[in-house]
Amino acid sequence: MRDRQSVTETHPIDPAVRRILERAEIEGIELVRFLYADHGGVIRGKAVSRSRLAERLHSGIGHTVAMMAMNMLDQLQEVEHLGPVGEVRLVPAPSTFVTLPYSPGAATMLSDLRRLDGSPWDACPRTFLKDAVAELAGEGYALVAAFEPEFTLGHRESGPDGFDRLRPLDDSLCFAGIGFDTAHDYALRLAHDLETQGLRVEHYHPELGPGQQELSVRHAPALRAADNHVLYRETVRGVALRMSMWASLAPKPLADQPGNGAHLHLSLWDREQRRNLFAGEPDLMAHFVGGLLAHLPALTALTCGSVNSFRRLGPRMWSSGYAVHGPDNREAAVRICSPLGESGEPNLELKPSDSSANPYLSLGAVIHAGLDGLRRRLDPGEPVLVDPDTRPGAYPRLPAGLDEALDALEADELLMEALGPLRRSAYLAVKRSEAAAFGAQDVAFELYHHMRAF
Ligand code: GLU
Ligand code: MG
Repeated sequence: MRDRQSVTETHPIDPAVRRILERAEIEGIELVRFLYADHGGVIRGKAVSRSRLAERLHSGIGHTVAMMAMNMLDQLQEVEHLGPVGEVRLVPAPSTFVTLPYSPGAATMLSDLRRLDGSPWDACPRTFLKDAVAELAGEGYALVAAFEPEFTLGHRESGPDGFDRLRPLDDSLCFAGIGFDTAHDYALRLAHDLETQGLRVEHYHPELGPGQQELSVRHAPALRAADNHVLYRETVRGVALRMSMWASLAPKPLADQPGNGAHLHLSLWDREQRRNLFAGEPDLMAHFVGGLLAHLPALTALTCGSVNSFRRLGPRMWSSGYAVHGPDNREAAVRICSPLGESGEPNLELKPSDSSANPYLSLGAVIHAGLDGLRRRLDPGEPVLVDPDTRPGAYPRLPAGLDEALDALEADELLMEALGPLRRSAYLAVKRSEAAAFGAQDVAFELYHHMRAF
């Protein structure tokens, strides 16, 4: 009590913090999770008890710098400045406080990683996105985005090779009526729990392949969209667990079945987000697409962040295999979407994107690539109006594996510069280590680790 008094005396509580404390009290919250996404794409965090919440909202929770050198197998990589010596603080953003219907008594806040003096840390992914948003705002624009995630719902069981695997919930056909029934209780609960956390649910359907679900949420300004995707990933898995099931957003949890994308829907607005500038300014959209395509091989190292991602990408799977764009072309990496209804917003869909990516790095890199297209007035080339796979050799392919994508990233001066020295050396070390670790093992090992982590 003495501690709390001294904190509140020296730092007058701002209204947002006061509201959080009141809600935590009224809703009986015992633990508040401060979450972040790491370089392996994994969502991690620490929780504070309600009695220490007031202080920790201000001071953050202490965390080792080394966690940003951890890969998705929980193997620590050697990265300069990210060793056993050194601390950062997990400092939550007050506007992101949500209580978790699927974990009663718990709440979540999305957090920045900050230096001990409170200044932004150069390996913080959320800061990377904030900086990209600020750079875009400097040019007069705001990016509005939504992840369109797919996932596989089922049960976890032990496999013949000693690794757990995902047994899908059903064998329903794509968009099939019976699929709505098999996943009905889960889908209702997921929609409810997302709405409760302030995500606006748009559409839901059972999709192609056993147990595959797709539930889309309303677009939001870039930082909020990335925060939303973290909450979404947590909720998909938390609700399943609560119902004694297992859900995985891994890009390819079942090697011989369709993959799970998290296509990124993007539109450019004025800085105040009053007007979608893609409506009525075709040049703007064209240059933005030009930027995405110019950086696409490198971008995939961040938007499709795992070894498993590249099992999903490929022709004839609607996940995109070619670095081309086209109107409503579902085999193109960039689909120009036809707006829905009279109030529909013109937007782009980046298909090489999945939920194993760190959403802050992914969206931040997309902003840098698009902005480069705007600044250099890049030409995206002719739209592709056919399935690109029917014209062998005519169009550039996407990277075939994580190492190839990382090679492209290392060769991309703009993105390497944007990431900065600490973040890029950590990201490359973590991702190269994953490519090596999975390269040395069989597919059951890969599927197990990805369905566990994502
Ligand atoms: N499952 C596909 C993918 O891996 C996408 C299918 C769709 O267009 O919704 O991206
Ligand atoms: Mg889909």
